[in-house]
Amino acid sequence: MKLIDGKELAKNIRTNLKDEVEMLKSKGINPKLAVIMVGDDKASAVYVRNKSKACNELGIEYEEFLLKTETTMDELLSLIDKLNKDINIDGILLQSPIPKHLDINEAFRKIEPKKDVDGFNPVNVGKLSLNQDCFVSCTPYGIIKMLETYNVPIEGAHAVIIGRSNIVGKPLLQCLLNKNATVTICHSKTKNLEEVTKQADILIAAIGKPEFVTANMVKDGACVIDVGINRTEEGKLLGDVKFFEVSEKASCITPVPGGVGPMTIAMLMANVVKAAHYREN
Ligand code: NAD
Repeated sequence: MKLIDGKELAKNIRTNLKDEVEMLKSKGINPKLAVIMVGDDKASAVYVRNKSKACNELGIEYEEFLLKTETTMDELLSLIDKLNKDINIDGILLQSPIPKHLDINEAFRKIEPKKDVDGFNPVNVGKLSLNQDCFVSCTPYGIIKMLETYNVPIEGAHAVIIGRSNIVGKPLLQCLLNKNATVTICHSKTKNLEEVTKQADILIAAIGKPEFVTANMVKDGACVIDVGINRTEEGKLLGDVKFFEVSEKASCITPVPGGVGPMTIAMLMANVVKAAHYREN
């Protein structure tokens, strides 16, 4: 079994990006990310802090906009509008979740597609499904990078994704399809889940249930990617895959932590750098 070391791979990607940021700066372009957070979700605060740290490390400018829980839709949209028009800002990220009285889809629609580094604007979602150049949402983008770096064959492989969320499952389906995999997507209403997952050459778990995927659900020699981040009451981090028993059957597997998580942030940085390149044109 080969461990897919997302932490190490993410570090290499960040090192290369740092050089690219230097090169952009030498041309007078200072890449900048703006992050909007509405309310005081604790997990979001941790994610936002990690994004700010990654920007600092790479020399990417970072500005945070913390809006109070009672923020109105008009206020949120006018902030996005202001950031869209700001020529010094390359990427805009709206941290989810946002309070329930706000319409996150409307907010994503408002983000200028060329600054939509999370890839959630419908223009980017549509372009991904048409296999056109676009911003790909960071978690699926990171997963594809891991598979490619570890030479996991995608073309012709049967990839099974458990989870159909807009941020992981659905964009990953498109990414794998664009790379000529045969893709099956499973979800909470899928019947005989185990029968489907056992067919996977590449099995991706994005469910949000600790240790949901057990060895009996996995084909011998499959590549297993664990997207899940679940915190136990004791504060331990668990993935969606029962690592120790599944790793005995898998040909390669991602750990939690140290797998998909660090790659997601590295790919966000890659998207900000990509956005900054638009200023060259
Ligand atoms: P979500 O809650 O939006 O979606 C979960 C999906 O799992 C749904 O499509 C649902 O149908 C499916 N599901 C639930 N129970 C099921 C069952 N019994 N059988 C089959 N399918 C079932 O979750 P999400 O936002 O996609 O996140 C999934 C997990 O990935 C979470 O643990 C989240 O924290 C983690 N995550 C990690 C990263 C990262 O960077 N590592 C990024 C995004 C999400």
